[in-house]
Amino acid sequence: MSSVVVLGSANLDLVVRQPRLPQPGETMFGSSFTTVPGGKGLNQAIAAARTGAEVVFLGAVGRDAFGTQLREALQADGVATEGLIGVDVPTGTAHIAVLGDGENSIVIVPGANAAVRQLDKASRVTITRARYLVAQLERPLDLVSEAFALARAAGVRTVLTPAPAQPLEPLLLENTDILIPNSGEACALAGLDDDRDAAAALSSMAGLVVMTRGPRGATVAQGGGILFDVAPRVVEAVDTTGAGDTFAGVLVARLSLGESLERALHAATVAASIAVTRPGASTSMPTWTQVEALL
Ligand code: ATP
Repeated sequence: MSSVVVLGSANLDLVVRQPRLPQPGETMFGSSFTTVPGGKGLNQAIAAARTGAEVVFLGAVGRDAFGTQLREALQADGVATEGLIGVDVPTGTAHIAVLGDGENSIVIVPGANAAVRQLDKASRVTITRARYLVAQLERPLDLVSEAFALARAAGVRTVLTPAPAQPLEPLLLENTDILIPNSGEACALAGLDDDRDAAAALSSMAGLVVMTRGPRGATVAQGGGILFDVAPRVVEAVDTTGAGDTFAGVLVARLSLGESLERALHAATVAASIAVTRPGASTSMPTWTQVEALL
């Protein structure tokens, strides 16, 4: 039995550091360019694996050099990749601008991530044997919905990061045990302006809502009301890329290892605070030893 199965995207992040976003028609200089394994799925899988969980990744990459790079990156962190399918579509890419204030803007070209729309038999077996199934919305919605229905029927706990934000069928939310939106995603999903109201509203559909609020920490809601807030750890952010994925991956990893919700949230908060002080997404994620030292 595997602890955590991540059904998600794998992209190569093409990262440019630049002072601000250019205006339409404007050309400007950036200060650096790097390639980093990314995609919300890969990021969450790596965050969970670095935190000590046994992790299986279900994804799709092209039969190209980027795909090989991503497979090797997952394996280097101990993530099982038998469920990472090779397809005849280019590997997904994410074009990330990291701005002077540490904020980021991202354009994703899904490529292979969008090519598989149904679970194969092996993936179905993998999901039904998991303790936790984790997904985001960078793979086809049909695929995520199918996986969550299967997991729910098999008694596997389901965790959804609803990013990028998009309208969701009520059944997918009902099949979600833990929903982890950021503020913007919560507001978009609930159709409300206030993020705490949005988290409360969403929690009347999904089991538990853990809304991340950037430097303001997180808010937990259940059964239509706010349960409690999670204070942030105050740090100086240099690059927030992957903060949410670190938070989600670490939270699920600690829960899968039997930790309480409160302790798992604390670990996730500390891990994400470390991630924002380092550049990149998967490259910024701490090991469990580094998180534990600050707990
Ligand atoms: P991203 O899309 O940049 O990966 P996100 O929008 O999904 O992130 P956020 O809500 O920005 O997620 O951040 C997730 C968690 O990371 C927060 O709940 C918080 O614990 C931590 N975090 C984010 N930004 C900061 C910050 N500037 N200082 C301290 N902690 C932070």
